[in-house]
Amino acid sequence: MATTPQKPSLIGMSMPELSTALDPWTLPSYRAEQIYKWVHHHQVSDFADMSNLPKTLRSELSEAFELHTLKPAFRAVSKDGTIKYLWELTDGRQIESVFIPEATRTTICISSQVGCALGCDFCATAKMGFLRNLTAGEIVEQVIRVQQDTGQKITNVVLMGMGEPFLNYPRVIQACHILCDPAGLAISAKKITISTVGVVPRIRQYADEEQPFSLAISLHAPTQELRRSIMPIADKFDLQMLMDSAHHYTGGSNRRRITFEYVLLKGVNDSPTEAKQLLKLLAPLRCKLNLIPYNDTGIGFIRPEDNNIQRFLKPLEQAPFTVTVRKNRGNDIAAACGQLFVEVAEDSKARSMKA
Ligand code: SF4
Repeated sequence: MATTPQKPSLIGMSMPELSTALDPWTLPSYRAEQIYKWVHHHQVSDFADMSNLPKTLRSELSEAFELHTLKPAFRAVSKDGTIKYLWELTDGRQIESVFIPEATRTTICISSQVGCALGCDFCATAKMGFLRNLTAGEIVEQVIRVQQDTGQKITNVVLMGMGEPFLNYPRVIQACHILCDPAGLAISAKKITISTVGVVPRIRQYADEEQPFSLAISLHAPTQELRRSIMPIADKFDLQMLMDSAHHYTGGSNRRRITFEYVLLKGVNDSPTEAKQLLKLLAPLRCKLNLIPYNDTGIGFIRPEDNNIQRFLKPLEQAPFTVTVRKNRGNDIAAACGQLFVEVAEDSKARSMKA
């Protein structure tokens, strides 16, 4: 795999990191603040646009640092306006982001790792295995680049693309602080959602640190036995441990609500029995349930028919929490997590075999 030697990127540097990186210039401290704002708030693509810096400094900075490190590798636009991006990193590896425009908000789903080690049965990313963690800069840059490409201000961010964010905890948290910083991307912290499949120690840490971002837990099964059969992480952190950590989070001093994600897989977890078990499990918690009819990926699972989804919803009508069913977006462009990468990789594999 080709590795391009790379100057460090200024995107994703916290203020203290940026001040240290600027040490050789012995600049007054306000310069670091100005540069941080040009990079993250104004999101300039060229050092020449940093108009309140001396020209010599602008050109020296452009010799020492990069502003962009992600190279567009593929872009697909769905009929419904969803846009899927495949980015090439400086080491030649690839990650995905998905832009989802809606009437009242614009959401981006971003990646936190290249590939993933957790091997959930229904996930296309799992087929890649784990390759590496993303840097804070690579996480933040996905939002900046999509904002630049679409010309639309992103209002909501979900870390639900490739990877398990809580296995890349420090970089993900640093990136999220830059995303919500008023001098950074200025996205409301509550509208940034970190989605985990249940790395219990990090859920507890996140609660204890009172991080201001929203939390989603990908539950996908209401019993330990079923969860274990589709999500290997349940061997390490069982359902009881996961629910205890969820209670710890919602019972904390800031009394936050958790969103539970539940992907509906035909014949696996979509019966009324499972709906009743789910109701019992979640009823005592401050939470919201988001049902996600599976996005077919060709890896052995299928989406339940609409009448099965309605049958699943019936017992949940009495739930003391909100239940939503996510609209499938971008079906025509392989918008499920990891799916585009896998399809593009298989397509090029097929093409090279043919050649
Ligand atoms: S669903 Fe998430 S945690 Fe599970 S394998 Fe896919 S990327 Fe990893």
